[in-house]
Amino acid sequence: MQTGIIIRGVGGNYYVDTEDKIYKCRARGKFRKKNIKPLIGDEVEIELTNKSDVEGFIINIHSRKNSFIRPTVANIDQLIIVTTLYRPTLSFLLLDKMIVNSELNKLKPIICFNKCDLIEKEDRLKLKKVYENTGYNMIFTSTITGEGIEELKDAMCDKLSLFTGPSGVGKSSLTNYLDERFELKTGEISEKLNRGKNTTRHAEIYKLDFGGRVIDTPGFSLLDLHETSFEGLLSSFVEIKEYSYNCRFNDCKHYKEPDCSVKAAVEAGNISKIRYDNYIKLYEEIKSRKKY
Ligand code: GDP
Ligand code: ZN
Repeated sequence: MQTGIIIRGVGGNYYVDTEDKIYKCRARGKFRKKNIKPLIGDEVEIELTNKSDVEGFIINIHSRKNSFIRPTVANIDQLIIVTTLYRPTLSFLLLDKMIVNSELNKLKPIICFNKCDLIEKEDRLKLKKVYENTGYNMIFTSTITGEGIEELKDAMCDKLSLFTGPSGVGKSSLTNYLDERFELKTGEISEKLNRGKNTTRHAEIYKLDFGGRVIDTPGFSLLDLHETSFEGLLSSFVEIKEYSYNCRFNDCKHYKEPDCSVKAAVEAGNISKIRYDNYIKLYEEIKSRKKY
């Protein structure tokens, strides 16, 4: 028996990466009977065979730390939100939505500001200031100067990461830069994606040469606030949540209520005004939907 990670699944065949090699496996019938479908990212036990067209059978799936639908994958360790200040111009609202999305999925995001060859030192300080008390790891990268790449590798080492972010920010360039063997693959994949929505996509996990693993498709479609509760929103703005214990009202939404410690913290400069305003925008969005 061997243990490995499913890195690819096509037509009922699962490719399981073990210490020594990748085995083409099928799942034992018991999983189908129980309606359990193995996912890429699953840590599995396999039993080797020489009796059929496959090399092994999946006999056990270890319990999942998490699982997602788009892409269909289990056991993601972290989301790397890639964004830029320019080309394309940064939307803090979009970035904060992606952060909320990550938090709601119980993943701590890493914020990667790419194309930092295009920005001034003051810009960095400003960006750092907005997110400084969120505790998120912020990495400034450039695929032109190579800045921040080692830091990004350190953050990705021994973890399964999923890149997300608007198109054009440099997600493919970054993955290629992280490991040049990746180049061909991402090229192929973006080509496939461009062919249209009907192309079946099978997400795959790649092991990068420095020891991190990455999913070859950008993750997570944008947050739909329909199902987000006020509590969910608040706990996704970690620093706002932190300041929310001293409000006069227990159920303070930190909106128009008097004696609100969150608003006081914004006034005092302890919470970024940009973050607070985005919180309010998303709060209003949730509120207006709840009316119907
Ligand atoms: P994706 O859509 O997020 O995968 O973005 P791409 O990797 O396709 O990159 C979009 C464009 O940005 C390409 O023209 C890249 O050459 C360019 N680009 C990527 N990284 C950087 C960077 O660090 N600095 C600058 N100036 N341009 C970059
Ligand atoms: Zn309040």
